[in-house]
Amino acid sequence: MTNKILKQYRIFGFVAISYFVTACSTFPQLTIHQPISKVLATKVLDNWVQSQIEVQLPLSTQIEQESLTIPAKFQGKTLYKVEPGNKDKVIALTVDDGPWPKTTLQMLDIFKANNVKVTFFWVGSALQANTEIAKQVVAEGHAIGNHTWHHWYKQMDEATAKKEIDRTSDLIYKTTGVKTTLFRPPGGFLNNGLAAYAKSQKYSVVMWSLTSADTDPHAKPQAFVNNVLKGAKPGAIVLMHDGGGDRHRTVEALPQIITGLKQQGYRFVTIPELLQESGK
Ligand SMILES: [Zn+2]
Repeated sequence: MTNKILKQYRIFGFVAISYFVTACSTFPQLTIHQPISKVLATKVLDNWVQSQIEVQLPLSTQIEQESLTIPAKFQGKTLYKVEPGNKDKVIALTVDDGPWPKTTLQMLDIFKANNVKVTFFWVGSALQANTEIAKQVVAEGHAIGNHTWHHWYKQMDEATAKKEIDRTSDLIYKTTGVKTTLFRPPGGFLNNGLAAYAKSQKYSVVMWSLTSADTDPHAKPQAFVNNVLKGAKPGAIVLMHDGGGDRHRTVEALPQIITGLKQQGYRFVTIPELLQESGK
């Protein structure tokens, strides 16, 4: 019996010493390879972040399906407004050239306080600089469209037009999970190659039927308010801006624009909702 216990101790001792020796011999390796370990750790973290993004993908698909499905009759087409079914008093505010520090967030607060959802047309380079703002815009339920990477007006060959549009849509998707099929050409130029490429990819080219004229450097906010309230019609698409320059006058005009349209009996819809309205 005693021998058996001794034997067990010997085995235990051997295992313990082996473990200690192995641990000591591997420890210096860990120290030597610490920089590599850090790289590996970062890699693992990257993979983890990636897997989180992948996990979210079904949700993104849901976003696409529920709020961004564009009726077939508008795919690959240019539109300025829609004729809502039953002369429904719906109107779509669209906000271009962001995301932009400060003004986008101020507008988000105004939209939230008034329970208004709008459509933002993003410039890829602005999005790249303001990804956190972009995530907030999507989290608050607004729709997103593509407004190219550089906001160029010049004539473009197909490869350049493709890059301008694809790069922006890719970043919108990577940042927010939204797959947009809405495109608005910078400056409303329809003949410089961008709209042609967008249509070939089945984007709806979304123009506008009413402008706030908020890019007029001399106008006062009240002028933007008057432009929108006087020109409002059921199914109208309204142009305004949150980025590309100092838009504090647009922010100033926005509460009055919303209140005035509500007083006229309008309901605010996103572009995808507006397009779905026309089918009713
Ligand atoms: Zn623009």
